[in-house]
Amino acid sequence: MQKAAVNTMDKLADYHIHSTYNDHSDPDLTINNVIQIAKSKGLKKIAFTEHVRKSSDWIPKYLDEIQRCAIASSLDILSGFEAKILQNGDIDCPSEYRTEYFVIASFHSVFGNKQVWINALKSVIRDPTVDVIGHLAPEPGMKVSESEIRSIAEEIVQNRKVVELNSKYRRPPLDWILTFKAKGVRFHLGSDAHSLNSVGSFENINDLIVAANSL
Ligand SMILES: [Zn+2]
Ligand SMILES: [Zn+2]
Repeated sequence: MQKAAVNTMDKLADYHIHSTYNDHSDPDLTINNVIQIAKSKGLKKIAFTEHVRKSSDWIPKYLDEIQRCAIASSLDILSGFEAKILQNGDIDCPSEYRTEYFVIASFHSVFGNKQVWINALKSVIRDPTVDVIGHLAPEPGMKVSESEIRSIAEEIVQNRKVVELNSKYRRPPLDWILTFKAKGVRFHLGSDAHSLNSVGSFENINDLIVAANSL
């Protein structure tokens, strides 16, 4: 399975799905069950993007299982990871899996410093092994100016990254989407499913999808 160029707002494609390879998803969120429910919901494309750390030891088993289940499936299936953005601008993902697999980079901890946050974000946007910026939103209380959002958008476009419209967290915020859209940022959809019924579920971000499709 190769990394795919992604640029779609197709509701039949879900680019952010977890599995039982983390310790906090529903116990029935197995790779095979995800594929079956995606098929039953009429999805055409899904990406498995399990939480990863540099120390994760389950990766070969996870990738093997996806590959085995994908063979018997008519779905277009991407194998990948969701990696945490670190304060130094790196991502918490083993280097040997970054190039070949689909990689979402997301903030999962509070930095408490806007400049450190923006610098880390821009570093990740420039990272050629990162495909997507996941559930992007400023930290609570962090005021990011319109010109700072525009400058982030320029980096995203220049480095051909995709910004995910995330239905679990309803992110990015609407004003960010509008500024990004005006700058030509590309979007796709991710449910961030940790349960079977969330796979391919985007009803609660219809307003964000409309905004991203506007102009
Ligand atoms: Zn996340
Ligand atoms: Zn996630």
